[in-house]
Amino acid sequence: MSTDPVAAPCCPLARHLGKITTVAVLALAAIIAVNSLRADDKERPEAEQAAASQPPQGAVLLFDGKDLSKWQKPDGGPAPWKVENGYMEVRGGDIITKDKFRDCRIHIEFMPPDMGPQAKGQARGNSGVYVMNAYEIQVLDSYGLPKLEMGDCASIYSKKIPDKNAAKPPGQWQTYDMEFKAPKFDASGKKVANGRITIVWNGQKVHDNVEIDGPCPGGAPETPQGGAIRLQDHGNPVRFRNIWVVPGDAKQ
Ligand code: MG
Repeated sequence: MSTDPVAAPCCPLARHLGKITTVAVLALAAIIAVNSLRADDKERPEAEQAAASQPPQGAVLLFDGKDLSKWQKPDGGPAPWKVENGYMEVRGGDIITKDKFRDCRIHIEFMPPDMGPQAKGQARGNSGVYVMNAYEIQVLDSYGLPKLEMGDCASIYSKKIPDKNAAKPPGQWQTYDMEFKAPKFDASGKKVANGRITIVWNGQKVHDNVEIDGPCPGGAPETPQGGAIRLQDHGNPVRFRNIWVVPGDAKQ
């Protein structure tokens, strides 16, 4: 006979509740683990992009967020763009690098502003990155466009539309990672091979070893000596940061 008439009938119930609790704890742990994996998956591309943004050994830092000492106006005057909070912002005309480059890898980060609903087409945060001072890789707010057209962001201006739209919303930092192979010239200075470029936009390849048959509108003539990197002032307050080049390192 039980000395504890209350406890005896409760034991099976307690065991039952114990099992339920164990199952609930295990289920909760599984949910947390799955969600944690999902979060890792979501964050991985960002982490990879962050790693890809670090200048590798041999890189020439063209803008580290502090000053425009590597830049000038096309006529040689001091670069007039605003520098603050680790970025530079378009102001007072195009700027070019003091150095010239031929074959190279280029990393550049840019942020088109939100120009508001009244701004259309080429007025939506327009700027551009001229490779070898000749070929404009368009900078524009093309976020959400279902079909990109010539002149939209990441276009090789007037030459080729990007293969896909990798644009982020205006007001967010975006990246271009380019591998550029300069055109070749013979001893007389005659071009014998066009330049080629591969462009990864926000981690997505949008141009794959594309041949460029000559300068874009507003581009400088192609020369055997290569050319500066030029950033365009198209009248909109576009920002740039973390710009570096690895000379002679195009893998194409
Ligand atoms: Mg432009």
